[in-house]
Amino acid sequence: MEIKLQGLTKIFQAKDKTETVAVKDFDITIPSGKLIGLLGPSGCGKSTTLYMIAGLLKPNNGKIFFGDEDVTEMAPEDRGIGLVFQNYALYPHMTVKQNIMFPLENLKVPKAEAIIRAQEMADLVGIGELMERKPKQLSGGQQQRVAIARALVKKPRVLLLDEPLSNLDARLRLQTREEIKRIQIETGITTIFVTHDQEEAMSISDEIVLMESGLKMQVGEPQEVYDVPDNLFVAKFLGTPPINIYKGKIIKGEIELNGSIIGKTKAPDQEVVIGIRPEGFKISKTADFELEVNMVETIGRDTTLIINDIQDTERSSRVIVDSSNKVKPGDKIKFTIKPNKLFLFNKETGEKIT
Ligand code: ATP
Repeated sequence: MEIKLQGLTKIFQAKDKTETVAVKDFDITIPSGKLIGLLGPSGCGKSTTLYMIAGLLKPNNGKIFFGDEDVTEMAPEDRGIGLVFQNYALYPHMTVKQNIMFPLENLKVPKAEAIIRAQEMADLVGIGELMERKPKQLSGGQQQRVAIARALVKKPRVLLLDEPLSNLDARLRLQTREEIKRIQIETGITTIFVTHDQEEAMSISDEIVLMESGLKMQVGEPQEVYDVPDNLFVAKFLGTPPINIYKGKIIKGEIELNGSIIGKTKAPDQEVVIGIRPEGFKISKTADFELEVNMVETIGRDTTLIINDIQDTERSSRVIVDSSNKVKPGDKIKFTIKPNKLFLFNKETGEKIT
């Protein structure tokens, strides 16, 4: 089921009449059968968007389509959605089985059929053996699987997940997100996954939608958005360690950073913001771009060099090199910059300069 949002806008009004524009002119098409990560910092409007798709919030403007059907005015229970929240919201006095069967009772599905469907969903999410337990006898990860089974048992057209992993510890989060991906592939259900965690979104999404201040910033496959950010916000939001940001200039087709020429461009002369990914620095004998290493962290194959920032003494630059390079704190290292890891942005608007 393809989902289309057209000009979706939500404005909250407080008692004193002050307005918060939570989502503004939001246009996206979510292809059928895909898992889309809705990603952005806290307060950017992710949950508001999800709740409008679910029908729990009414947009001030714009339309929502499921396939060709306009569902903007449709009641939540008629939309055919499965919704999973961060805090599972299981009924504590009911068993796992009763929790999963609950939506089917509301739909008046005969009990024998409901039991079979509940068991199928429990097996799908890997908790088929725990049907008689109460929620408090389950781990956080198991509880979240019950919530997912309960959302899926109605055979929804769309699965909506609002920060479903944030209550889990790091290892369980990793495991459960892989499970969600597997379940999504097995069921082929169009899924929207809200998270503020870029790594989570990048790892499981077919496409990510990046939001900031209620606006769509970029949509694309995770690697594509990382490799070709449309603007400074996207470049800064994606990547760990984050992209290094400097003030620079374009002079006659050459990109200048602190008096060194680090690349070429066809863009006209101007002051620019330069972004260089940590993996965009290449140790080189010939380059005249030299930086002094402050700290060295080696994890596996990668070594991160923490370098006193060349422009701002309050900050550090982070550079990732292969750990076969034996670098020590205090070393002065010469670098060249890999052109495909170097980005230029408009100083005023943050838009990408190509
Ligand atoms: P988080 O990751 O913190 O959940 P989010 O990206 O999901 O954030 P939203 O919950 O959609 O963000 O909120 C978007 C904006 O709308 C925020 O500025 C928030 O304060 C505001 N907002 C959300 N709900 C209401 C409400 N009921 N009344 C007034 N303002 C609201």
